[in-house]
Amino acid sequence: MSILVLGGAGYIGSHAVYQLIDQGYEVVVIDNLQTGHRDALHPKAHFYEGDIRNREFMRSVFQKEKIKGIIHFAANSLVGESMVEPLKYYDNNVFGTQVVLEIMQEFGVKHIVFSSTAAVYGEQRVMPITESAETKPTNTYGETKLAMEKMMAWCEKGFGIHFVALRYFNVAGARGEGVIGEDHDPETHLIPVVLEAALGKRPAIIVFGEDYDTVDGTCVRDYIHVEDLIEAHILALKYLQNGGESNYFNLGSSQGFSVKEIIETAKAVTQLDIPVQMGERRAGDPSTLIASSDKAKQVLGWNPSRTSIEQIITDAWNWHKHHPNGYQK
Ligand code: UDP
Repeated sequence: MSILVLGGAGYIGSHAVYQLIDQGYEVVVIDNLQTGHRDALHPKAHFYEGDIRNREFMRSVFQKEKIKGIIHFAANSLVGESMVEPLKYYDNNVFGTQVVLEIMQEFGVKHIVFSSTAAVYGEQRVMPITESAETKPTNTYGETKLAMEKMMAWCEKGFGIHFVALRYFNVAGARGEGVIGEDHDPETHLIPVVLEAALGKRPAIIVFGEDYDTVDGTCVRDYIHVEDLIEAHILALKYLQNGGESNYFNLGSSQGFSVKEIIETAKAVTQLDIPVQMGERRAGDPSTLIASSDKAKQVLGWNPSRTSIEQIITDAWNWHKHHPNGYQK
């Protein structure tokens, strides 16, 4: 029996595949390689190239493999892009998940762990954010992830699936040995963009707004190491397999860092000068997002161990400096 990783050639998905295989799981990967990379695939995973929205393709994989659980990362995830191409997000994220759930029903697969996001919360007054906070996304990306969560909840009532929605805060870092890491084209996430500026791959890091109501006027985010994040996914899978009820968990470090603080830490880690330019606010950005992850710790027994921002940036840097062009040889 195998675990199916949807989006297993992507940044976060590939880290999941590596950890699952480390822990002795049989792993099947589906990825359309739209943003994923063939070189990020673990050699031991059974790989099927295709799109989760293609029912025939999905059916053919479920007919060949014995799938007992799914971890779902196959989605578009850029806040800025989601504001100008909203329907791309409804199609890939919402419709894609609909097809996944249809196939789960058809093949009697009961457990799914999936990537949700802090973006479901939108602008909140009370920090840290707990899972009981009202969901009110400020961007299409967050709205589609919330729709995916709700679709799963209705499918639970309809035909008895069980799901865990993991609401990620800002994921960064890379697997220790630097074999896999973050490689998006275009790259928009803060830490890799700052490291690209350190490498001279872009002229400067543009800070999106310095007039927010925060410590230094720049947005505050809660950064979590990708390896800690994946540990929570595997615990969530075990939780479902042990009969745990459907649930929602925040995954973050419960600490906030401003954009300027991230840039300063990156300067210290890389020992390089990083040119900084002030820019306009980016549409859809809430000013502050900080998680309370107590629930994941209590219910899943999650115990993140790579919580310092220096370590997160050091591990990301280890990947970037050895792979300045990402997976491209
Ligand atoms: N950010 C920035 N310049 C960049 C990329 C990001 O100032 O080139 C800011 C962005 O406005 C946000 C924070 O960094 O406040 C984190 O953005 P990212 O896109 O990494 O993640 P998000 O919080 O949108 O999921």
